[in-house]
Amino acid sequence: MTPQQGNVYVLSAPSGAGKSTLVRRLLEKLPDLIFSISFTTRPPREGEVNGEDYFFVDDATFDAMLAEDGLLEWVQVYKNRYGTGRAWIQEQRASGRDILLDIETVGAKNVKSALPEAILIFLLPPTAEELTRRLRGRGTETEEQLTVRLQHARHEMEQFPHYDYLVVNEDLEDAYRQLESIFVAERSRLTRMRPIADHILATF
Ligand code: ADP
Ligand code: 5GP
Repeated sequence: MTPQQGNVYVLSAPSGAGKSTLVRRLLEKLPDLIFSISFTTRPPREGEVNGEDYFFVDDATFDAMLAEDGLLEWVQVYKNRYGTGRAWIQEQRASGRDILLDIETVGAKNVKSALPEAILIFLLPPTAEELTRRLRGRGTETEEQLTVRLQHARHEMEQFPHYDYLVVNEDLEDAYRQLESIFVAERSRLTRMRPIADHILATF
């Protein structure tokens, strides 16, 4: 018995909050959850794989996707554009799979407008100090980039009222448990369970 439609989850967080760490774990542990690979015009960074991290496309391809309404949402960040493919999401949802989108706050709002049933989750760091410590510890940013990241983090975090759930990543295990509970509970929603309930009722 497959539920009617998979759920669409959007997870946003300021850089360094622990999103990649938690997403990796969610995808390992929840078998029906799959990750939406975005399209981007940004060049790949070292180690990034086309079709795994992103679909790396040129401007003309991105324009063509826009022209045929092929993107559920998209944004421009500096010179680069990022977008979520529409057709793939529809196909996967139709087969009952849940989809996780890792996108920034403008895109998240646009997903909610297009799909009001989408579930928006915001991950917060416990404090600015701890976020700085984690970014420093990761060692991927220069001090200058760190300052820019922190200013941007504040701006992103102000968007939290548009989200359905907030999770503070202080203790990693606690944060993971909270996140997992959201995914599990959302699968029991009436709208999601209706076909199964109808099937059970039909046996009486
Ligand atoms: P993001 O994807 O949000 O940029 P990462 O998952 O790369 O963040 O995490 C940033 C750094 O913080 C990593 O070094 C990660 O191991 C560490 N980290 C993540 N969550 C916690 C936590 N709850 N406590 C301490 N360190 C954490
Ligand atoms: P990066 O270039 O570091 O991979 O990503 C930059 C930002 O773009 C991140 O905040 C990431 O979440 C966001 N992003 C990635 N893909 C998409 C997308 O398809 N749509 C939107 N709106 N944001 C995206």
